[in-house]
Amino acid sequence: MTVEKVVIIGSGPAAHTAAIYAARAELRPVLFEGMFAGGVAAGGQLTTTTDVENFPGFPEGVLGQDLMDRMRAQSVRFGTRIYTETVEAVDVSARPFKVTSDSREMRAATVIVATGATARRLDIPGARDGELWQRGISACAVCDGALPLFRNRPLVVVGGGDSAMEEASFLTKFGSRVLVVYRGDTLRASKIMQRRATENPKIELVANHVVEAALGDPVLEAVRIRDVRSGAVRELSAAGLFFAIGHVPNTGFLGGQLALDDTGYIVTQPGTTRTSVPGVFAAGDVQDKQWRQAITAAGTGCMAALEAERFLAEEGGDVT
Ligand code: FAD
Ligand code: NDP
Repeated sequence: MTVEKVVIIGSGPAAHTAAIYAARAELRPVLFEGMFAGGVAAGGQLTTTTDVENFPGFPEGVLGQDLMDRMRAQSVRFGTRIYTETVEAVDVSARPFKVTSDSREMRAATVIVATGATARRLDIPGARDGELWQRGISACAVCDGALPLFRNRPLVVVGGGDSAMEEASFLTKFGSRVLVVYRGDTLRASKIMQRRATENPKIELVANHVVEAALGDPVLEAVRIRDVRSGAVRELSAAGLFFAIGHVPNTGFLGGQLALDDTGYIVTQPGTTRTSVPGVFAAGDVQDKQWRQAITAAGTGCMAALEAERFLAEEGGDVT
């Protein structure tokens, strides 16, 4: 069976940047773009949003779907072979590695895992697809916070971790005030992030509450929250509702063969995309719980391809 030099799994900015670099290095990459893997269409998380305004090179902004179509076209232009299939399993216990989808099995000298992560959303009335999701409700403040509908309006962040603190601080640039609603007595966030949030006069912390409904038509106007101790319910006026309740990295198909951290993200060696298995590299959100941006995903995709190229060169180009 032919051994491919590089097999890339994923289809977001990390995967396509890796493919562009690998293809231009004449490694003839194969890319599995997935079939709604992790609940996201081929093209990744950006296909679930509208305008992307912070990706360099697009001063007027670009639709997330268009940006991903362009990245895919660029991968194809340099010869990437793309399969619209989800990788169900990999075997990296011996080389060449084995990559299996529902339609084929492939051997690979190197593998780049760029399967991203899925932002957790609250499954509450009003917040679902076709309701107010993306009409005032988002899971990424850095991406959507600057939209005009949030300017000088009250905003709500759900969650009590570092992401919630970071998103709330970021949103104070735009909203009139930011309420952070969290279900526990105490915040999970680190002390420094908590301090930053509590010292900000625009941020108000609402402990022991859950958001149970999003209200408004055609855009979000209010959220209904419930006190988990007393059961008392009230409405908060809100133009924005931002979920910061964690992400789920798409690592299940790896079957525990790569070292993961305690929240399921692939561990890479600092400053590299190298994983615990030589010849397997990881790029983008699947190994990044801190930055989670298209540009950082693309940056690590580039690194992964260059590292794979070097890895193969050091082996003398022979794939065993
Ligand atoms: P992803 O984009 O997560 O793509 C991974 C892909 O791999 C997915 O399509 C998935 O289906 C596929 N996959 C998963 N498992 C498998 C498998 N087993 N086999 C094959 N394929 C698989 N960032 C910005 O910089 N600017 C923004 O404006 C912005 N807006 C955003 C708006 C929203 C609503 C969201 C959710 C995120 C936004 N982000 C934004 C963040 C950005 O989308 C991510 O940081 C970026 O897409 C991560 O890229 P990635 O390549 O790591 O993976
Ligand atoms: P975390 O898992 O740390 O926190 C998630 C928060 O969401 C918790 O407060 C949790 O509540 C809450 N939550 C989860 N599910 C629900 C639900 N269904 N309803 C209501 N609330 C819910 O995730 P983060 O994304 O904040 O952080 C992930 C990792 O990334 C952490 O290690 C963090 O330190 C790191 N990080 C670091 C940053 C930095 O240093 N600048 C920035 C962002 C993230 P509960 O506590 O009750 O379980």
